[in-house]
Amino acid sequence: MYGVTTAARKRLSRQIEEFPEYAKRTHLPRLLPPHMKALFPAALALIVLSVLHAEDKPKTDPKTATAPVIIKTEDEWKKILTEDQFKVTRQQGTERPFGDIYKEFEKQGEGTYFCICCGAELFTSTEKFHSGCGWPSFYDSSKAKNVLERVDNSHGMRRVETVCKRCGAHLGHVFEGEGFKTPTDRRFCINGVALKFVAKGGQAPKLLEPESAEVQKKKDEVAKEGGEAPKK
Ligand SMILES: [Zn+2]
Repeated sequence: MYGVTTAARKRLSRQIEEFPEYAKRTHLPRLLPPHMKALFPAALALIVLSVLHAEDKPKTDPKTATAPVIIKTEDEWKKILTEDQFKVTRQQGTERPFGDIYKEFEKQGEGTYFCICCGAELFTSTEKFHSGCGWPSFYDSSKAKNVLERVDNSHGMRRVETVCKRCGAHLGHVFEGEGFKTPTDRRFCINGVALKFVAKGGQAPKLLEPESAEVQKKKDEVAKEGGEAPKK
């Protein structure tokens, strides 16, 4: 319900309360029998409620959605990810705050954070900061071209989801204007399981490449026939 502003809510409830006064000034209710007049505020309230409810349905802003270049079936992702990694990155899950991964994150020094699914660079220790929220926090991405931000209206909240642009992995959310003394005053609140940390000087993970057009075409054909995608 956070999608509707308090001001809008107050305005709507005021309109409901003032309705009997409004009804007296209009002609339509005069044409109706008294018991129907009594139903007017209730009917208006119902309409208002259904509009508010419609605002709550999860939806993705199609204008900002971008198709990833790495496309895999759920089964394929399950083979290369742990259960926790799969739940967070492929099913929009959220890891427990202040967990073991977070404790590890707090101890990590200089280095780079890559997408656990496809190996794309997402953040570095330069943008890392301590927010105290219990999840890895960064004030910016290190490679903006790899991080997609899109509106997420799920769970009755309007938030901005952060996603790996190459493979569509859910990373977390980004919040702004919270008053953190960082160069951007933005907080990329990221699930630690979605990240692969490589300390400075270490070997970057292998970047997953898109499948050849031929393989992808074959997979699409199999999918269309309703069968299981061929194993790689
Ligand atoms: Zn990725």
